[in-house]
Amino acid sequence: MRKPRLMTPGPANVPEDVLLELARPVIHHRSAEAKQVIVEVTDGLKEVFQTQNDVLILTASGTGAMEAAAVNTVPPGGKALVLSAGHFAARWGNICKAHGINAVILETEWGQPVDPDQVALALRQHPDTVCVMGTLSETSTGTGHPVEAIGRVVAATPAVFAVDGISGVGAMECRTDEWGIDLLCVGSQKALMLPPGLAFLSVSPKAWAKIDAFESRSFYFNLKVARKKAKEFDTPFTPAHTLILALRASLRRIKEEGIEGIWQRHRRMSEACQAGVQALGLELFSARPAEGLTAFRVPAGLKDTDIRNKLTERFGITTVGGQDKLKGKIVRIGHLGYTDEIDVVATLAALEMALAELGHDVEPGCAVAAAQQVLMGQRTAAAVG
Ligand SMILES: *Cc1c(COP(=O)(O)O)cnc(C)c1O
Repeated sequence: MRKPRLMTPGPANVPEDVLLELARPVIHHRSAEAKQVIVEVTDGLKEVFQTQNDVLILTASGTGAMEAAAVNTVPPGGKALVLSAGHFAARWGNICKAHGINAVILETEWGQPVDPDQVALALRQHPDTVCVMGTLSETSTGTGHPVEAIGRVVAATPAVFAVDGISGVGAMECRTDEWGIDLLCVGSQKALMLPPGLAFLSVSPKAWAKIDAFESRSFYFNLKVARKKAKEFDTPFTPAHTLILALRASLRRIKEEGIEGIWQRHRRMSEACQAGVQALGLELFSARPAEGLTAFRVPAGLKDTDIRNKLTERFGITTVGGQDKLKGKIVRIGHLGYTDEIDVVATLAALEMALAELGHDVEPGCAVAAAQQVLMGQRTAAAVG
């Protein structure tokens, strides 16, 4: 028997009580009961986002929230500054292209964090920028970007700041209001412990002013209509309300642990995972690791699929490889949402055995010991970058 462990940065493990919600009979989406659920989950999402802004629930994958943010905020031909530093940040550029938005791409080397000074410089060069599009946790490289510092730069300009927090929110510290995030995009299937199918988008007053300035060119993602319906605790179209019921269950769990406690747990898991990986002589890919996943370079002489297939076949552990130009070059271990410290330790133990069986020189227990030392507070995560 192998116990399946989804150590991936989304879709990720879903707790049993959340799964059970999905097995209940379908209720009507315009019923008083359904509205009551919207009231409760909107409140819970605001706590997770750390915001007083409107939070809209969209029936889409996370990318739907990104597209909604872009198309409603930037008029056709308007300018956006894309903080491109990986596969998902590049998606902002593709969304802009699809909607006739003039995207200025600020490239950062993959694995490096975006430099807030570069953002300030680009905004001086492009004072007509309507929206700056960034990422909290770049899942393709395992990098956490300095969103707080970038938010400070953007807040001093007329532009709004849209952040893809799809794999970051609920794992890494994210303070929407304090940090000046005008549009925060989140998906259900990562740290929020749900299956895929819902997207969430917070909208600040500064962003609403941009949105109200022109007619939305999206019918399904018309945020003005979504705002009107949200005021009545409703949605413009039939929402995936079975998932919204499940969301209520996951948000109750989040409330019980407390968002700050959740951030701390993810920090411990990421530091333990980093220490374990490094104890195996593996090199972390990111200079500023995100807290919901750990990416390491595939060691010389091995293929990423050798390692990942062994982890799956021997131990039931699913990890992911690299995307685009990182295909075959890195392995990514997700540790977000319904994942605990022992899942990380178990994954490191499996990684030791997988590498040893593949002929890599491994001292059994070295990664586990390093992780345990971090978890017991006897060791701080090794400095990286
Ligand atoms: C997963 C992910 C996405 C894509 O989300 P979908 O739900 O597949 O649309 C976008 N950005 C980041 C940072 C992600 O981790």
